[in-house]
Amino acid sequence: VQSNGGGAIASLSKSSHESLNRKIMIEKQLMKALDRKDLQVVYQPQVDLNTNRIVSVEAFVRWQDEVLGVVSPEELIPVAEESGLIQDIGAFMLEQSCQQAAAWAKLGYDLKVSINSSVREFRNPNMVKTVMETLDKSKCKANKLKIEITEKFALEAEAEQSITKQMNQLKKLGIEFVLDDFGTGYASFRYMQLLPITEVKIDQTYIQSLTGQVKVKQLVDGMIQFGKSMNMRMLAEGVETEEQYDMLKGMGCDVIQGYLISKPMLAEELEKLLITHNK
Ligand code: C2E
Ligand code: CA
Ligand code: CA
Ligand code: CA
Repeated sequence: VQSNGGGAIASLSKSSHESLNRKIMIEKQLMKALDRKDLQVVYQPQVDLNTNRIVSVEAFVRWQDEVLGVVSPEELIPVAEESGLIQDIGAFMLEQSCQQAAAWAKLGYDLKVSINSSVREFRNPNMVKTVMETLDKSKCKANKLKIEITEKFALEAEAEQSITKQMNQLKKLGIEFVLDDFGTGYASFRYMQLLPITEVKIDQTYIQSLTGQVKVKQLVDGMIQFGKSMNMRMLAEGVETEEQYDMLKGMGCDVIQGYLISKPMLAEELEKLLITHNK
C-alpha cells in the first residue's frame, strides 16, 4: 500500500509539474503574441426571433501559437486571468471589436458587437477611460457595443461599489451590459438588481437539455418570463437544433445564438452570411 501511495504522489507531482510548465509557456508565448497583436477575433451571429435577422454578434478570442499550436479559450482565459494578461486580451478584443463595428456601420450593417469581459478588467481604475478612448479612436458609437460579464465571477464586497459605478458610467454613454451564463452562478438575482444589465443570456447547458427534460423546459420558460418581466432582453445561447429554436420562439425568447445559425467566424465570412441571411 505504501509503495503504491508513494507512486501516486510521485506521478501527481510530475503531472502538476508539467501543468505548471505549460502555464509558464502559455504566459511567455501569450506575451509575445499580444505584443505582435498576433491573435484573432471570431464573431458569432445573434438572431432576433421576431424578425429572424442577425442583429448582433459575439466576439471571441482565437489564438494559434507557433510553438503551442491552438490554445483554446478554456485554457487560455484562466491562465491570462491568473497572470494579469487578461487586461491586455481585453484591450485587444475591445480595440478589434470597436474597429470592426465601425467598419460594419460604414458598410451600412446595423450590428452590435458583444465582447466578453472579466470582472478583473473592471478592477482596473482606468477601465472607463480606456473604453472611451478606444471608442473615440475607432470612431465606433457606444451603442454598438455590448459588454458581457459572467455571473460565475464573484464580486468582492469592497470592489462592488466601484465596479457598479464604472458600469453605470459606461451605460450612460450608451454601452449595454449583458449577464452571461445565467443560471450557473449564485448571484444572478443580485447582479440583475445591482448592475445596469439589459440582456440576459441563458446558459447553453439549459438549452442543450431543453427538448429532453420537462423540468428544464419549465425552468427555461420561467427564466424567460421572469427576465421579460424585469424588462430584460432574453437570449438563449448554444442553440443547435430547429426544435430548440421553435421551442424558444414559442416561449417568447428574444434572441438566439448557436451552431444552428453559425459557428463563430472571421469578419469577412460573417459579411457573406449577413448578405444571404439578412436579405
Ligand atoms: P461563453 O462566453 O459562454 O461563450 C460560449 C462558448 O460556446 C464559445 O466557446 C462558443 O464558441 C461556444 N458555442 C457557441 N455556439 C455554440 C453551440 O451551438 N454549441 C456549442 N456546444 N458551443 C457553442 P469558446 O469560444 O471556446 O469560448 C469559451 C469561453 O471562453 C467563453 O464562454 C468565454 O467565457 C471565454 N472567452 C472566449 N473569448 C473570450 C474573450 O475574448 N475574453 C474573455 N474574457 N473571455 C473569453
Ligand atoms: Ca459570452
Ligand atoms: Ca455564455
Ligand atoms: Ca459558457
